[in-house]
Amino acid sequence: MVEIHNDIDIELRQLQVEKGRQLGIMLSRRCNIACPQCISRSSPHITIKEPQYDVSGLIRQAAHLSKDGVGPNILSFTGGEPFLNLKLLERYSALANDYGLLAGAITNGFWASDLKRGKNILSRLHCLCRIDVSTDFRHLQFIPFQTIENAISLLCDSGQMGEVRFARQINDEGAYNEICEILEKHDVSDRIHPSSLIYLDSKGCPVVPQYRRADRAPLGPCFAITPVIEPSGRVLGCCGCLGNLAGSHAMVVGDITQATLFEIYRSFHLNPFIQALRVGGIYEAINIFTTLLVHNWCIPWHDRESPCFTCFQFFKCMSSEDAKLVMSNSTLIARFAMLRFVLFGEEQGIDLLPTDARAVAHLCFETSQHMKQLWLG
Ligand code: SF4
Ligand code: SF4
Repeated sequence: MVEIHNDIDIELRQLQVEKGRQLGIMLSRRCNIACPQCISRSSPHITIKEPQYDVSGLIRQAAHLSKDGVGPNILSFTGGEPFLNLKLLERYSALANDYGLLAGAITNGFWASDLKRGKNILSRLHCLCRIDVSTDFRHLQFIPFQTIENAISLLCDSGQMGEVRFARQINDEGAYNEICEILEKHDVSDRIHPSSLIYLDSKGCPVVPQYRRADRAPLGPCFAITPVIEPSGRVLGCCGCLGNLAGSHAMVVGDITQATLFEIYRSFHLNPFIQALRVGGIYEAINIFTTLLVHNWCIPWHDRESPCFTCFQFFKCMSSEDAKLVMSNSTLIARFAMLRFVLFGEEQGIDLLPTDARAVAHLCFETSQHMKQLWLG
C-alpha cells in the first residue's frame, strides 16, 4: 500500500508539475572554475566540449513528444558551465524555439564580469527565456560578487532572469542577504531559490558535516526530479548528486544513444523510485520500499538540510535484484500513476502503463477523479 503524507501546499505541487516538464541537457562537464562541492564533477580540466550524441535529433524528438503532452516543454541547458560554448548554446536554444519549445540555462554568471560584453552575450542568447544563476559562499570564492550583481542586472534588463540558486550554509547570511537586496532593487525579490550545499568527498560521495547530522531524513518531496541527460548520453532521473553513482542503478532511466526520448520518458514515468521521490521524498520512499522489500536500510545518520545524502546512500546500498523487484511491480507502478494523476493532473501516465498495470489503474481512475476534486476543492 502506498501512503504519502499530503500536507504540502498547492503552489509547491505546481512547482513539481513544472519541474516534471523540464528536460536537463548537460552540454559538457567543462567549467571555468572547479568548486569543491560540484555535484557534476565539472572543472577546467575537462576537454570534451560537446555532448556525445545528436542533440539536434534529441530536440526534434522532444518537440514531437511535447505536443503529445508526454515530453518536456522546457529544455534546460546545464553543465559544467554552458556559457563556455556560446555557439552551441546559441544553436540549440534557437533550434528549440524553432520547434516551439522553451529553452533555459543555468550558469555561474562569469560572463558578466564586464557589463558591455555581458550584454552582447545575452543578445546572442535571446532564445533562452530564463537563465538561472548559481551562486553561494563557495562560488563567490571564484566569481566575485560584483560579477553576480552585473549578471542579475543584465538578466533583469533583458527579461531573461530566472532565479538565483543559492546554496545556504552556516555563516553566509551576509552574501545571501546582499543577493536578496539586489533582487529587491530589480523588483524580483521572489527569484531566490535557497538550497542546501551538498558536500562531496574526493570520490564524489556526499558527506554530512557534524553540525548538520540528524536522526531522520528531511520530510517532503524532491523538487529536483526531472530527466537529465549527461554529455555521454546516460539519462538520470534527477539533477542531484546521484550522477556521482557510477554505472547503472535504479535512478538511471536509459541512454539516449540507445533509446528514443519516448522510451526514456516511459522509464521515467514508470519508475516507482522516481515517482516515490517526486510525490513523497526520500523519507517516505524508504518507508514504502522497506515494507515492500523487507529490507532495513542501514543509514546511520542523515543530513538535516538536504535529502540527497540519504538518497545517495539508499541507491548505493540497493542491490540490482531489489531494484528489479520494485520496477517490475505493476500494482505499485499503477498506484503511483494514480497518485501523479491526483497530485499533478498527469493523466498521460496511465496510457504509458504496461497492460496489467493499466487494468489496475483504470479500476482506480474514477476514485482518483473524485479524490482530485476533493483535493483541489
Ligand atoms: S560553477 Fe557549477 S558547474 Fe562549475 S564547478 Fe562550480 S558547481 Fe560545478
Ligand atoms: S533527493 Fe535524491 S532524487 Fe532528489 S535531487 Fe537529491 S539525490 Fe536526486
